[in-house]
Amino acid sequence: MAKDRQIAPWSGLLDDGRADGRLVREAREGPGKAKLVDAPAALHPDVLAALARMGVGQLYSHQAEALLAATEGPTIVTTGTASGKSMCFNLPTLHILCEQTRARALYLYPTKALAQDQARALNGFGLTKRVRPAIYDGDTPREARAEIRKQANVVLTNPDMLHVGILPNHGAWADLFANLAVVVLDEAHVYRGVFGSHVGGVLRRLRRIAAAYGTEPVFLMTSATIANPLELAERLTGLEDVRLIDDDGSPAPSRTIAVWNPPLTDEELGARRSAIGEAAELLARLVREGARTICFIKSRKGVELLARLVKEDLQDSHPELAELVVPYRAGYTPQQRRELEGRLMRGELRAVITTDALELGIDIGALDAALVVTFPGTVASLKQMWGRAGRSTIERRGDGLAVFLAGEDALDQFFCRHPDEFLERPVEAAILDHESPLIYRAHLLCAAHEGPLCHDDGEFLGPRWEAHAEVLVAAGELRKRPAPATAQLGEATSGTYVPRRPGGYPAAEVSLRSASPERYDIVDVSSGELLGSTEAARAHSTVHEGAVYLHLGRAYEVRELDLDRRRALVAPFDGDWYTQPKRATDTDIIRLLDRRQTLGVTLSFGHVSVTDTVLAYQRKGVADHAFRELHALDLPPVSFDTQALWFELPGAGSPLDAAAALASAGVDSGAGAEAGTRDAQDRVDAPALDWQIPLELLLGALHATEHAQIAVLPLIAMCDRWDIGGLSTNFHPQTGVPTIFIYDGHPGGIGIARTAFQRFEELCRDAHALIAECPCADGCPSCVQSPKCGNLNEPLSKAGARLLLERMLGAGGAEVERERITARRSERDSSLLKA
Ligand SMILES: [Zn+2]
Ligand SMILES: [Zn+2]
Repeated sequence: MAKDRQIAPWSGLLDDGRADGRLVREAREGPGKAKLVDAPAALHPDVLAALARMGVGQLYSHQAEALLAATEGPTIVTTGTASGKSMCFNLPTLHILCEQTRARALYLYPTKALAQDQARALNGFGLTKRVRPAIYDGDTPREARAEIRKQANVVLTNPDMLHVGILPNHGAWADLFANLAVVVLDEAHVYRGVFGSHVGGVLRRLRRIAAAYGTEPVFLMTSATIANPLELAERLTGLEDVRLIDDDGSPAPSRTIAVWNPPLTDEELGARRSAIGEAAELLARLVREGARTICFIKSRKGVELLARLVKEDLQDSHPELAELVVPYRAGYTPQQRRELEGRLMRGELRAVITTDALELGIDIGALDAALVVTFPGTVASLKQMWGRAGRSTIERRGDGLAVFLAGEDALDQFFCRHPDEFLERPVEAAILDHESPLIYRAHLLCAAHEGPLCHDDGEFLGPRWEAHAEVLVAAGELRKRPAPATAQLGEATSGTYVPRRPGGYPAAEVSLRSASPERYDIVDVSSGELLGSTEAARAHSTVHEGAVYLHLGRAYEVRELDLDRRRALVAPFDGDWYTQPKRATDTDIIRLLDRRQTLGVTLSFGHVSVTDTVLAYQRKGVADHAFRELHALDLPPVSFDTQALWFELPGAGSPLDAAAALASAGVDSGAGAEAGTRDAQDRVDAPALDWQIPLELLLGALHATEHAQIAVLPLIAMCDRWDIGGLSTNFHPQTGVPTIFIYDGHPGGIGIARTAFQRFEELCRDAHALIAECPCADGCPSCVQSPKCGNLNEPLSKAGARLLLERMLGAGGAEVERERITARRSERDSSLLKA
């Protein structure tokens, strides 16, 4: 349809941004035409009739492809936001349920709200005789549960409930398992890190129990765009030969993308206008110009503050518009959410401000503009948020504006300096490790309670299950039952493993959100409510007495940390400071797993033991990050084993002899680590490089390098910088030389350090760019300062780190150079418009 050229409601805003440099880059996407195909005639007539009733004459090409792929085997669909992904698993499921009256399906959702949305969507097909969806989660009334187990042929639940409620009681679910035809895993990219590693264990147990009842369900998955959808699908399910559907047939929107940086207020310190102040200005302006806008901001407090600022801005000139700006937070009832979503879709609201609660595919349709305030942690979720911009019809989408508004954090500013790379960059890989030892063994024990472990279980639990089972035998959790002497051909001949305490309920002890079963409960003393729990290994640094603790975007202050009863008592807090712990950390290398020479350093990967002592904490102002006061703490050290990479710089500074070693210092590290050299003998000595770093700068250089590497690591492995720990020292007793460690912050590790080890050169290149291009003089929160530094950012040498990384990359030779040329070429080829 031809459309008159219109001035977009945001043209004036973009003009201003271009003029004063706040608009760092703009790009255009689309529009693209929809690829529509007829619904396959082979689809069950009832499903075809339901589509016709719903006015769906044709399907997007990827929906038809997914339908076909689902008949062949496990499938993952990774098309864009609002591309009709749920049709990709609903159609094959409905087809099967209509064909086979006894067949049943299991839908897994990461949140209860999403399960409710999907139940509604399934009911929308109007196939009430054949399709009987029901939600089964913690909120399901006891008296309704037996009926659901018997009647529902689509059970919508979450991995936690599957883990703790359904699998351990599979006998009560015998009919479901004996007829289980389909398992749907929607929003699979959410299952990464610790949570994903656990879900990998749960899904293997699910396949094992289904097989025991004689079924082999097909797995249908969807995910936001990520770098490794097939790998994710295979790691989560343990299945091979997963089919990938990624050719999006929905109409590409016509969208302007803007990267926006608040103006500098102090160049030397790297200070900028606050992102929230800038966001309020942008949002008020979009509202005034008539653009329906969704704004994403991280914390609940941020949502409230921003809503207040925008309303204040509008109050004087347009009081009627101020009413049309609403905050949307977690904690609404389903009815309240429905009402708000309805008002949004009908255009009765002008702007909604939300945390990422809305990010996960809840149906509000698309709006005119999407404003993302500060980097949401992954490019994948940023793109999902941007996907809200541009209103659509079935055939084409209207114009939209998608804005990323940078904060002062290192990654935010990195993106502002590399907007092209940022926009073109392949989204991150979702990392998980279902074989992380603590997590794996937790599920192995649960599996043993669900049925004796035997030889055939390798198919579901992987080839190394027996070695892990032996560890559980040694720990007194499992017992090996020898094979019967009279074993017939085809019977188990290698014996089985059974629980030592058959009456136990191990699933109840395992939280899918935590890497280790040792947890501290967090209790709100004002209400008596259990807010959640934290890993024991992190409790001292996150919920020590006096800590300001954030839960679902709300702040609490810790009144007491009860070490004996393993719980933290907290109370709601509305002070204007946050806290940062000061820690001493030691790392002890336990086992070397891999090693290579690169960039002039010896790079290793292996198991380490990390010992943390929280010594004190400081209060800092929320608005200005200014230091207020330091409070001492008296807490015992805590240790945990995890995975780490470390690299050694032989010949850095002056030669270190025993005397120098005694005078050595470490940062993010404690003094007096036990000396040991069990690692030293198998080290291949790197050709010593002249690092040209003055000794007095060395420690600060190492420390700043470590911070910069940790800051950019989430670009490679989808994780939060809080999931990563680091330590730098100018003398490590086991390596005997200056060494930087980067480790998985969760006990056992979940694959982050391994990924960083594999892609170390990229990590160094990104860290170098982060430092070299930051306009600050001596380091700032946008480059080498870390909000979680256990040493409170002392000492740091930005210049030293830059020198160190330059020397490393210079020593890297051809390989790094080749990558750099490729990167430059892709920059040149990019179709982006320069602002
Ligand atoms: Zn800086
Ligand atoms: Zn530090």
